[in-house]
Amino acid sequence: MKSFTDQNASNLAPLSVFSQFLSLRCVDLHLKHDESSNMLAIIAIHSTHLGPALGGCRFRAYPSIEHGIIDAIRLAHGMSYKAAISNLPFGGGKAVIIQTPQMTNRTEIFRSFGQFVQELGGRYITAEDSGTGVEDMDVIRTVTPFVTGNSSQKFICKDPSPLTAIGVRRGIQAAVKHHLHRDTLAGIHVAICGAGHVGYYLAKELHQLGARLTITDIKPETTERCADEFHATPVSPQDIHKVESDVYAPCALSNAVSFENIDEINAKIIAGSANNQLESPLLAERLMQKGILYAPDYVINAGGLIHVAAQYNNQTENMAKENIENIYNTLLMLFERAAKENVSPLDVANRLAEQRLYFSN
Ligand code: NAD
Repeated sequence: MKSFTDQNASNLAPLSVFSQFLSLRCVDLHLKHDESSNMLAIIAIHSTHLGPALGGCRFRAYPSIEHGIIDAIRLAHGMSYKAAISNLPFGGGKAVIIQTPQMTNRTEIFRSFGQFVQELGGRYITAEDSGTGVEDMDVIRTVTPFVTGNSSQKFICKDPSPLTAIGVRRGIQAAVKHHLHRDTLAGIHVAICGAGHVGYYLAKELHQLGARLTITDIKPETTERCADEFHATPVSPQDIHKVESDVYAPCALSNAVSFENIDEINAKIIAGSANNQLESPLLAERLMQKGILYAPDYVINAGGLIHVAAQYNNQTENMAKENIENIYNTLLMLFERAAKENVSPLDVANRLAEQRLYFSN
C-alpha cells in the first residue's frame, strides 16, 4: 500500500474534494453505500445556522464519485446563499445519488436514501432536483418526515418552473425600474437564451406584459414554439448575447457570461434563471464598469426554493407566491445599495447573505 504522502496519492481528486469542502465552508459531508439496494449517495450540508439544511436530491451518473461529491458541496453552498438572501428559515444542503447500472430497483434506492436522510435526524431536508420527482419523494416519505415536495402536502406542484419564471419576471421588472427608470415592460426588448421549462414560462409572462422577445434554443422546435405563440424573433444560440436588447435573460446553462464573450454582450441588463451565470465572480465588476446591470442569479432564480420551503412549512401556495413576488423588492434593495456603494449587486448580495449566515443570532 502506498503511503499517504506518496506523490501520486497527493495528486488524487479526494484532496481537491476536501479543499473544496473547506474553502466553501461546508459543515458536514456524509457518504453512504447500501449494499442491498446498491444505493450510493452523498449529503453535503453547508450551513444549518438559519435552520435545517434544505436542498434537492439529484439522481444522475457522474464520471467519478469525487465529481458527485464536489457537485453536492458546490450546490449545498449555493443553497445556503439562496435561502439566506431570500430570508428563509433554512440552511443549505444538497444530496446526490450516483446513478450506476447496478441500480435496478428505484423504490429500494429511494427508500434506502430516505433512511440515510432519517439518520441525520432533521439536519438535512430533501426535495426534488434533476432526475427525481414527486413519486420518489413519496417513497422517501415512508421512512422519514424530513422531505418536501411529496404528495401529502398542502399543495403539490409537479413542476416549479412556472413559479421560478414568475420570480425571474419580477426580477426583470426590478432591474428595468432601477436601470431604465421604467415601470412597465411594454416595449422592453428581452433576449432569452434557452426556451426550456423556465424560459418558456418566462417568455409567456413577458409577452403578456407587452415585452418584445428574441429567443434561442439548441432545439429548433422549442424556439419555433415561442416564435409562434409569443411572436418572438428566433436567432442562433451563438448570437443571442450579441442581440441589441434591454435585457439578456440566460435561461439555459452556466457560464452565459464569460471572459471571452463579455465584450460582445449588447444588453443593458442581465437577468435570467440559469444557475452560475458568470464564469467567474470577477465578471460582476466588469459588467458594472461596462454599465450593464446584473441581477445575481441566486437571488432572481430563488422561486423554486421559496416554493419548496413553503411546502415544507405547510404554507399555502398563495403564501409561496407572495414571497416569490418579493424578489422584486429584494433586488431593488440590492441594486440601490450597490449603486450607493459603487460596487456590483453580486457583491452586496454575497455580503448580505454572509452576514445572515455567519453573524446573525
Ligand atoms: P431546461 O432543461 O428545461 O431548459 C433549458 C433549455 O436550454 C433547454 O430547452 C435546452 O435545449 C436549452 N439549451 C441548452 N443549451 C443551450 C445553449 N447552448 N443555447 C441555447 N439553449 C440551450 O431547464 P430549466 O428547468 O428551464 O432551467 C433552466 C436554468 O434555470 C438552469 O440553469 C436551471 O439550473 C435554472 N433553474 C431552474 C429552476 C426551475 O425551477 N426549473 C429553478 C432555479 C434555477
